Amino acid sequence: MLGMSKELYEEASKFLVGGVDSPVRAAVRPYPFFVKEGVGPYIITEDNEKLVDYVLGYGPLILGHANEAVKRRVIEQIERGWLYGTPTRVELELAKKVVSYVMPGGKVRFVNSGTEATMTAIRLARGFTGRNKIMKFDGCYHGAHDYVLVQAGSAASEYGVPNSRGVPPQVAALTVVAKYNDLESADRAAKAAGDDLAAIIVEPVIGNMGVIPPDREFLRGLREIADRYGSLLIFDEVITGFRLSMGGAQQYFGVKADIVTLGKIIGGGFPIGAVTARSEIMDLLSPRGPVFNAGTFNANPVTMSAGLATIETIEATDALSKASKAAKEIAEYAEAAFNGAASVNRVESMFQLFFTQRSVVSPDDARASDREKYAKFHELMRKYGVFVPPSQFESQFTSAVHDDEVILTTEEALRKAASELK
Ligand code: PMP
Repeated sequence: MLGMSKELYEEASKFLVGGVDSPVRAAVRPYPFFVKEGVGPYIITEDNEKLVDYVLGYGPLILGHANEAVKRRVIEQIERGWLYGTPTRVELELAKKVVSYVMPGGKVRFVNSGTEATMTAIRLARGFTGRNKIMKFDGCYHGAHDYVLVQAGSAASEYGVPNSRGVPPQVAALTVVAKYNDLESADRAAKAAGDDLAAIIVEPVIGNMGVIPPDREFLRGLREIADRYGSLLIFDEVITGFRLSMGGAQQYFGVKADIVTLGKIIGGGFPIGAVTARSEIMDLLSPRGPVFNAGTFNANPVTMSAGLATIETIEATDALSKASKAAKEIAEYAEAAFNGAASVNRVESMFQLFFTQRSVVSPDDARASDREKYAKFHELMRKYGVFVPPSQFESQFTSAVHDDEVILTTEEALRKAASELK
């Protein structure tokens, strides 16, 4: 019904901060639309708009909305109850998959969000090395906890709080910040942390400043710096895991990390995070070791079922390459439609446009692009039936069900948006 989102938003604003529960959702102008249904590559809003979805829950839905195999497994699980507070068979099955693809010979701990995953990974790195400091990169986002809310990307950048109030300066002081794609800056930061650098944490492809791919030598260089300083390398693969390849960015770029954090896709659209590393590191976690982690909802059976069904479906189909192919076509079309006025970055099925004439190789380049124009682009794409992220500092995603028909709708929308944005 027309006007329904407005009505819901006004009421929601009385009960929820800004009418939402996660800040990027409030970036849709003039107010967020409410969604009542997701079907394959589409979402249906409360106002009955049908939009091609390039947000896909901010990354998890690699198979699109309401995938049949995932739905069936979730329902089967729910028929048997949904929370036992004990280990389950399905959790073991998902653990085997994750470990064999991402950290052969290692172990995994399932938690409930990417935030918990990076928090646990950093604690583990500190416990393992006996050191306190971590290095992160300006513009990388690793979740909403204190250790990493220093020069953070995503909504922290969009809303002007890359350094959140409420994080004690003593905590922030343990995080040294370097520039992405700049090995000299990373080396300087490592030197500054001296012999107290527990870990370097990085998004192997930044997905929280738009999309920024790593330079050829950047990840390899970080591996060397970590080794030289006796620190651990943490790849935050919450977005890239099971998207760039089954082995994620490690496999894709041929660089091994010591700890990998995962989330999003491995939960099939249900809340999840995971930490994986070789057993020597993982066995420091409770109950085996002195580094604490626990959770009522860790490895909850519904998420585990959805995650396992998702990975099995990816294995049985060419889901990743289908998603990548769709992204490639759309990125190429967008580049042509904007004819030099926008620059498009893409790595497999993650991509983003920047309204700038130069190529975007760093978060500073992303910040220097025309963000107001991006916001207008979002509005126009919606008018023509396509949901792209409302913030410049997010990635667009494709799924295995972004087929030719969907691509055609998108290209038509891009053509119209480009001509109106001139
Ligand atoms: N790390 C990365 C790379 C992310 O993109 C995100 C969320 N987009 C997180 C961590 C945090 O994950 P969550 O929102 O599930 O806490």
